[in-house]
Amino acid sequence: MPDVLEVLEPATEAVLEELPRAGEEEVDAAVARAAAAFPAWRAVSPSDRANVLRAISAAVTAHREELALLEARNAGKPIGDARGEMDMVAQVFAYYSGSPERLLGDTIPVSGGQAWTLREPLGVVGLIVPWNFPLTIAAWKMGPALAAGNTVVLKPAELTPLTALRFAQIAGEAGLPEGVLNVVVGPGSTCGARLVAHPGVAKIAFTGSTEVGRSIAAGAAQTIKRVTLELGGKSPNVVFADADLAAAAAAAPGAVFGNAGQDCCARSRILVQRPAIDEFMSALERAVTAIRVGDPLDEATEMGPLISAGQRATVGSFVDDGAPVAFRGAAPDGPGFWFAPTVLCPVEPDARAAREEIFGPVAVVIPFDDEEEAVRLANDTIYGLSGSIWSGDGARALRVARALDAGVLSINSNTSVRVSTPFGGFKQSGYGRELGPHALDAYTEVKSIFYATDPT
Ligand code: NAD
Repeated sequence: MPDVLEVLEPATEAVLEELPRAGEEEVDAAVARAAAAFPAWRAVSPSDRANVLRAISAAVTAHREELALLEARNAGKPIGDARGEMDMVAQVFAYYSGSPERLLGDTIPVSGGQAWTLREPLGVVGLIVPWNFPLTIAAWKMGPALAAGNTVVLKPAELTPLTALRFAQIAGEAGLPEGVLNVVVGPGSTCGARLVAHPGVAKIAFTGSTEVGRSIAAGAAQTIKRVTLELGGKSPNVVFADADLAAAAAAAPGAVFGNAGQDCCARSRILVQRPAIDEFMSALERAVTAIRVGDPLDEATEMGPLISAGQRATVGSFVDDGAPVAFRGAAPDGPGFWFAPTVLCPVEPDARAAREEIFGPVAVVIPFDDEEEAVRLANDTIYGLSGSIWSGDGARALRVARALDAGVLSINSNTSVRVSTPFGGFKQSGYGRELGPHALDAYTEVKSIFYATDPT
């Protein structure tokens, strides 16, 4: 009897699907399939590999509604958001379809001959991803990995494996050869750890918590595996008194309560300059109480449930009896892992809610006096993933952006992710970059070749 994994629907707590739960043997078999497929996949001509990636992009678009519905139900995210995520998956493959023919090297002047560099694929790469943006984050890794000629073993989070499994079928139908992409559904502690330890895996690309990231970096050291880590965050949203306060307040809820706050880029620390705090808080309250929380499949829904009962208990621990709750939005009763969007204010910078990643719909508001204090507070964290600066003074906004220790910043906007720009963290938010041209560096090795031309 195989071990059975029950996949739940967070909005109803009902079982959505039952799957066999993989263990270490299945990981070893998947690595063996990926290793067997590697020589032929790396030898596919660049233009043919580009065509396969383009076909995958088109196939995802053709299956957009089916994949979005599956993701919305399994991850509990609003259907409109899920459609947007599937569009991004298609864009990622379209973007990286341009890469096989553009993996350029250098020619380097040397004496006695010619020297040049090549970008070689690594081999079998292990991709370990979380449950908050299941297929999107997998695509950020699969796109450049496959474009560069690697083969892949993908381990989705146990809570949200369904779109990864369906994607693998769709990619196969679109022309991805057998064995190039292998999905293993099982626990991190066994399947994930085995991928990290496996001597046949050349690289691990991981997205998840900083805690698990630490153990992956340590485990990968045994085989000197390449590792890229996209980890947690506690991103600041810095609002100066000279900003368009109405715009900043209207945008702030989306930046922290999007995906029910289960977003590594969530601007969960809202830093507001003191003279603006009353006006900002009034506008923020109107925006937060207007958020429509409910059935992910209702087209009007803006926020769904949390992923699990465990996640709801963790998030709830930040809103205990003593928490300075300024205001809360609504949440449905009944089955489902619901949690009302919550704003805490004022919060001391050393309070637990201001320091730890909550990964749920809880924002803290911290007042500040001047630019110097804003920068100090914003940087006062082990994390450094993302952040926003709202100001009507362009020079100040640029000064602050330069001073913040974070990988992805936006000014008078809360956006973090674009397919064509690099994404990743400073400090304990990880290392390596995904998306944009930089992601390919993490899936290739540079090889230098010298050809002697001068008579010896
Ligand atoms: P998690 O770290 O618990 O799990 C992530 C993945 O790692 C899962 O597939 C899990 O099964 C696997 N895993 C767990 N233990 C493992 C081990 N010992 N060895 C190998 N693999 C193991 O994270 P989560 O709860 O799924 O996701 C939430 C976290 O992810 C948050 O901290 C969030 O900030 C982070 N995140 C970061 C980014 C980013 O790009 N920086 C994006 C999304 C989420």
